[in-house]
Amino acid sequence: MLKNKNKPKTTKQYHNVSPASSPLHAAQQIQFADQKQEFNKRPTKIGHKCSQQYGSLEATCYMCVHAFVCLSSDDETSPRDKQQKNSKGNGDFCIKNIKQADFGRREIEIAEQEMPALMALRKRAQGEKPLAGAKVVGCTHITAQTAVLMETLSALGAQCRWAACNIYSTQNEVAAALAEGGFSVFAWKGESEDDFWWCIDRCVNVEGWQPNMILDDGGDLTHWIYKKYPSMFKKIKGIVEESVTGVHRLYQLSKAGKLCVPAMNVNDSVTKQKFDNLYCCRESILDGLKRTTDVMFGGKQVVVCGYGEVGKGCCAALKAMGSIVYVTEIDPICALQACMDGFRLVKLNEVIRQVDIVITCTGNKNVVVRENLDRMKNGCIVCNMGHSNTEIDVVSHPDHVVGRLLNLSCSTVPTFVLSITATTQALALIELYNAPEGRYKQDVYLLPKKMDEYVASLHLPTFDAHLTELTDEQAKYLGLNKNGPFKPNYYRYPAISVLCGFSFVLLVLVCLNVTVPVCVGKCANCKPTLMYTYYSIYCFLLQILNHLAHGKRRLEKLVQLLSPY
Ligand code: NAD
Repeated sequence: MLKNKNKPKTTKQYHNVSPASSPLHAAQQIQFADQKQEFNKRPTKIGHKCSQQYGSLEATCYMCVHAFVCLSSDDETSPRDKQQKNSKGNGDFCIKNIKQADFGRREIEIAEQEMPALMALRKRAQGEKPLAGAKVVGCTHITAQTAVLMETLSALGAQCRWAACNIYSTQNEVAAALAEGGFSVFAWKGESEDDFWWCIDRCVNVEGWQPNMILDDGGDLTHWIYKKYPSMFKKIKGIVEESVTGVHRLYQLSKAGKLCVPAMNVNDSVTKQKFDNLYCCRESILDGLKRTTDVMFGGKQVVVCGYGEVGKGCCAALKAMGSIVYVTEIDPICALQACMDGFRLVKLNEVIRQVDIVITCTGNKNVVVRENLDRMKNGCIVCNMGHSNTEIDVVSHPDHVVGRLLNLSCSTVPTFVLSITATTQALALIELYNAPEGRYKQDVYLLPKKMDEYVASLHLPTFDAHLTELTDEQAKYLGLNKNGPFKPNYYRYPAISVLCGFSFVLLVLVCLNVTVPVCVGKCANCKPTLMYTYYSIYCFLLQILNHLAHGKRRLEKLVQLLSPY
């Protein structure tokens, strides 16, 4: 089994890369052996010579961002105790080491390549400045991707002050590049709890500057302003929140009637959910496992528990690598999907003795219990991609199992996924900042569907994708505006969630292998097969819902109530 030597982490876990398991740390461990050789190595291929002096070492870095090791003689000194200034003499920041700015700038440039939507927003904002006058205080992970967001907000006219939402996740070199670029950043990797709040306070408690927008990830910044500076809310136009926890806190405030400004829940926007759950996991499961175990996937027997969005992503990735993939499920619809996708549906105890890897993706608790752990073969890797650390019984086997989210703890999230989130955040800020009086009350809102579609459309050019436009006739036929929104709010992409609402009807039909000879949707020459039955009913339900939903919002609510997802 996979040994876990990591200490338990703090409560702030989301997108957290713990120091012990981070790529940088891994790189440090690998590089230490021949550190000298690495630093003296001349750049190859796309490499460059970085002549910066880092502490006592002259570093030669090549464009591999994680291969860089920075050792500094004054590493132990707290940044709070240092006098800091950038090359222009500005000292309104507190970071680890301003000398790392060049390296951080290169990381930001690499991230820009994978964040096409923000770059497109920058171009569009050359004429207009939708955030002119906005004073944004932010508390998010300080990474190269966040830097691209901050620089975009600045290009759109905003002034920004920023702290880290996680004591471990700050990329020091990126913070340095931001500080060198004139941003007031207060963050470094490995802050203490006290440093964490001190940094947040330095962002908000500043003479002659008051924020009028909040961009938060986790709700700590919002909480701090509520607690320490409640009068600031008189000037604040809105809060944009990214995380599940932060959104939960906002809903609680709203319920208690204590939310005094409008808030935008970015976490639940469709594009973010889709990319985070399915596509992100499809990419990062392999990355996380490789970085931690160096395991080869071809021919390995893997059991994936749960065939929802995350499970589907994991299965697809592993199958593509040549693994033999088994699936466990409790929901017959997802189970049937797994079968149709070519996976063997099993009970965990049927395969537990033979599998090499066990991955949990259920969001449930005690999916892998002590009995399963005891029966596994020696060296079996057990990991969790689902919620928190409840899926695997780590308590009874604390020394041998990693219970936290594998991909978030042991690898990084693909930049393109973060691009979706960052663009959504930027648009939410623009929307709240520019909304006419009264459009948003003191409540929590989802980003309007049209903006979700806009976020997606801004990412399409990356793929040279050509979107079809509705003709007038088609738009009229479907009852849609040609410019969107193109789907009703209950539509969850893909349609499985709509089907789930009617799972009982479908289940009976499918189980009895009943065929429906009429296709009420648009499929001509309907054949009486199982798949056609399935598809026809789906088309039929979708059509009815589509037609009825227009002008009847109550139906939307009904569908949402019916749908378990
Ligand atoms: P989902 O609801 O679409 O899928 C979960 C599936 O697990 C469902 O099909 C359910 O029937 C099945 N299930 C529940 N209990 C089970 C059990 N005991 N055995 C087998 N199957 C079981 O949810 P999702 O979007 O796939 O997310 C799953 C979890 O992953 C959630 O907790 C979510 O918060 C988390 N998540 C992780 C990441 C990440 O990056 N690691 C990203 C997004 C979501």
